[in-house]
Amino acid sequence: MKETKYIWKNGVFIPWKKAVTHVLTHALNYGTGIFEGLRCYPSAKGGLIFRLNDHVKRFFHSGKLLGMNFNFSQRQFAQAIKRTVVKNNVFDVYIRPLGFYGYQKIGPNPADSPVEIIIACIPLKDYLKSDFIKVKLASIRRIPPSSAFTNSKMTGMYYNSALASMEAWKSGFDEAIVLDENGYVAEGAAENIFMVKKGIVFTPPADNVLGGITRGTLFELFKDLGIKCVQKRITIKELSSADEAFFTGTAVEVHFIGWIGAKKIKKDNPVTRKIAQYYGKVMRGKIPKYKRWVTRV
Ligand code: PMP
Repeated sequence: MKETKYIWKNGVFIPWKKAVTHVLTHALNYGTGIFEGLRCYPSAKGGLIFRLNDHVKRFFHSGKLLGMNFNFSQRQFAQAIKRTVVKNNVFDVYIRPLGFYGYQKIGPNPADSPVEIIIACIPLKDYLKSDFIKVKLASIRRIPPSSAFTNSKMTGMYYNSALASMEAWKSGFDEAIVLDENGYVAEGAAENIFMVKKGIVFTPPADNVLGGITRGTLFELFKDLGIKCVQKRITIKELSSADEAFFTGTAVEVHFIGWIGAKKIKKDNPVTRKIAQYYGKVMRGKIPKYKRWVTRV
């Protein structure tokens, strides 16, 4: 991981190397953390943060589900994120807000533990290495919504993504896809998934997966481009015989999928290419209609 200079912690900036915590931190033992991932893109003057307020809103939503009380407002937190980017003076970064229950006592109930909040900026180039990635179907299933708040970002749930990714990487794949508890395609380890068949785009409904901010952005952009997008359950057979398939996420943006297991997906990808290019312009503040999604720092 490439370092930047400062990390915001509970309202103050501390040097990157000093942002450490005790080994008996509650979240480290029991997965009681929440997080976000935002992107800041460089521009001629400073940086552009994409959908800042929506990420802050989701951070507070995740925190509320985990019983966390913050002593700042969403507006103040958005301000802190902007200040962290400016303080580090690096504008091509992935921004990681993290909230976690800290050090107090042993046992799964974190109620007495302090809530610690940090914001870090991490230079990030090409989260996924190749253009046409190979994805492997994970042998484990997504944690079902009956067992966790799947539409939030809690650190504990990500052991499921970690297992799926490790399995994929061990077999020489770039990323994993997981099925939901009923055997339908759910999402990637940290991405939403879409497929294209005869010009129509399909994606699973967000009842079993994270309703990603990029996913939501694309729903708006499809309308502009006159592309029909349908939310429906997708089988692995349908996905493997799709004309195109792609991942979406803050880190991966819109990313072509080249292989589903041993099955090669066609390479021309006209629909994915069109949406990826349009999304690229939107997040860099180049489409006036969507400038409201872009915050200058
Ligand atoms: N699904 C999961 C499990 C994720 O971790 C992410 C990344 N946040 C996504 C989907 C994509 O969400 P977003 O577009 O909000 O980054």
